[in-house]
Amino acid sequence: MSGSPYGILFEPVKIGPVTAKNRFYQVPHCTGSGALRPRILAGLRGSKAEGGWGVINTEYCSVHPSSDDLPYPSATLWDDRDIRAHRLTTDKIHEHGALAGVELCLGGARMANLETREVALSSGNLPNLAGNPFQCREMDKSDIQDARRWHRNAALRAKSAGFDIVYIYATHGYMLSQFMSGKMNHRTDEYGGVLENRIRLLREIIEDTKNAVGNDLAIAVRFSAETNGGGGRDGAPIPGETEEIFGHLGELPDLWDINVSDYSLEMGLSRFVPEGALEPYVKSIKSMTTKPVVSVGRFTSPDTMVSQIKRGVMDFIGAARPSIADPYLPNKIAEGRPEDIRECIGCNICYTGDGKGVPIRCTQNPTISEEWRRGWHPEKINAKRSDDTILVVGSGPTGLEAAHALGKRGYSVMLAEATRDLGGRVSLESQLPGLRQWARVRDYRLGQIGKLDNVEIFRESQLTAEQVLEIAPDHVAIATGASWRRDGYGANALGCIDGLSSPPNIFTPDDIMAGNVPQGRAIVYDDDHYYMGTVIAESLRLKGVDVTLVTPEDVVSSWGAYTMDRGRAQSRLMKLGVNLSVSKSLSSFDGQSAVFACTYTGRETRVAADAVVMVTARKPNDSLYKDLVSHRDYQVGVTTKSVKKIGDCDAPGIIAAAVFAGHRYARDLDEVVDTDNPLKHDRVFSCCS
Ligand code: ADP
Ligand code: SF4
Repeated sequence: MSGSPYGILFEPVKIGPVTAKNRFYQVPHCTGSGALRPRILAGLRGSKAEGGWGVINTEYCSVHPSSDDLPYPSATLWDDRDIRAHRLTTDKIHEHGALAGVELCLGGARMANLETREVALSSGNLPNLAGNPFQCREMDKSDIQDARRWHRNAALRAKSAGFDIVYIYATHGYMLSQFMSGKMNHRTDEYGGVLENRIRLLREIIEDTKNAVGNDLAIAVRFSAETNGGGGRDGAPIPGETEEIFGHLGELPDLWDINVSDYSLEMGLSRFVPEGALEPYVKSIKSMTTKPVVSVGRFTSPDTMVSQIKRGVMDFIGAARPSIADPYLPNKIAEGRPEDIRECIGCNICYTGDGKGVPIRCTQNPTISEEWRRGWHPEKINAKRSDDTILVVGSGPTGLEAAHALGKRGYSVMLAEATRDLGGRVSLESQLPGLRQWARVRDYRLGQIGKLDNVEIFRESQLTAEQVLEIAPDHVAIATGASWRRDGYGANALGCIDGLSSPPNIFTPDDIMAGNVPQGRAIVYDDDHYYMGTVIAESLRLKGVDVTLVTPEDVVSSWGAYTMDRGRAQSRLMKLGVNLSVSKSLSSFDGQSAVFACTYTGRETRVAADAVVMVTARKPNDSLYKDLVSHRDYQVGVTTKSVKKIGDCDAPGIIAAAVFAGHRYARDLDEVVDTDNPLKHDRVFSCCS
């Protein structure tokens, strides 16, 4: 790397007794697999090691059954039988010369122990901070001794499992944060009161861990740059407090992993939070300790990374999402091809894996969590098995990914697009407020296709069935997308809504994205519950429309809670002056007023409105597919070997599903696919190995 402007990123950095080979540091992040799916997990972490990350950490790893967070799947080191599962991961990480870290966690009031039924322990009888109707037991001295022993034993098991770095998790509102917080800790013994007392348990646990494993393993502390001692979960930062804590503890661990307590800022959506947003919080930390500091910022630009290091903001470039979107990010920089980086778009679909308790998926990277169970490598793909030609119709995320992956396999591909612009829905949606980075889905794929001379793109080519038959490719992939419905059909109106088929002034998101803006008072009716309803409401409000967002759900953007759209979207709409109305389902609209029924009582209300924007469901644009397979000249296996509809044209969904569908089509073409067992089923060791 000598002479490279990015050479500084590849310098080795010492962390206590171990040394990271470079500054690329995958901070702990959830995978939705945790202790439940050890092979999926090992495949996922191993691909990052192969891709060049110097340090790779687990997700939060519970040290005892009283820190059980299911249905959110954490890792566990409860007993020696957990060691074997972790070994799968550490071996994979070490194969490529990276360091493996484990984030040990005492959960306290954030854990409901729904699986284990243990009583949660904390500094006091705190209510469950995840909204469950249980309270904690206030830890007495013997509980504190127990917790210290559990943590120490887990550190020893981590050593046996082959880890190089052991974390002490002292942020995000878990047990150690609860002790540190003046708001949450009301104890009157030596663990409560003044700050020095409130950080006593953290100090003891750092010392215990050092005594147990500190000669061989590095000790990291994950810590918030603000709201530790005084503010805590709900309070404001107390000036000087972080400095005081670092005065006591700054030199104790081997590394500080710095974040902020507010998840919606720390892992903020690109819709609301720009790259590098933690810098104001993190930048002063390095002056408080001589130990290396890591933090995050959705960094995907190597120039920004270099700047962070050179300006002394941090020593390691921390990443969770950029490492999910592109496990090969460090290698691509090392090989002088940063333009090949598959940049994270900041949509947080990956985060839904934790909330839903399933392996994470990613809008940009269709192979994440599929490394082991489907054998999908993030960069390599199975070579073509024939000289067949493939016509992909439609250049949205599905078509672009299919054409790109088929091209990489070596097939001769024609990509036909009806319009002049490529990218389909991602190009359109990226014009909406806050969604500019959605365009990265298109740009990455177009950049890669541009490097292939076996993929030809035909713009302004709206194909008919006759034309497809004339082209006569061996295989046809129809990726013609879906259109938003006008008729009210959606989760709360499976039979459509009366009178909505053709009244005046019914709009859809497609109309708004095409530049048609309703005048006067508009209702955005959201029976979709993800981002589109709130984004459309914001877009119209910014154009001066008087907007009311109505939803049958009890909250705005209910599914957006899984991506962290919900809270910030609601707050933005309220600040913009959008009226919000929940628990109301649309009954009718006559062009002058809309009638809504309360979803609990059925009681009707009439709201004056000049227009309604229906954000409910989408209808596949599958007429080309239907015309083709029913065409008199079409004979399966004769005119073409296969015709398949894929992505939104097959089953409308999120962009991540479209990219996945395109990728899967490309991987499966010409392969023998076992539809009875399409993927390997991961199971924990105790029941099957
Ligand atoms: P997906 O999310 O599945 O990729 P999109 O709606 O984003 O779907 O993209 C579908 C694309 O297909 C659009 O760009 C649209 O213009 C294009 N398209 C639709 N019908 C045809 C057709 N008959 N011929 C060529 N392109 C088409
Ligand atoms: Fe980034 Fe979205 Fe992928 Fe998460 S799902 S890593 S936020 S692109």
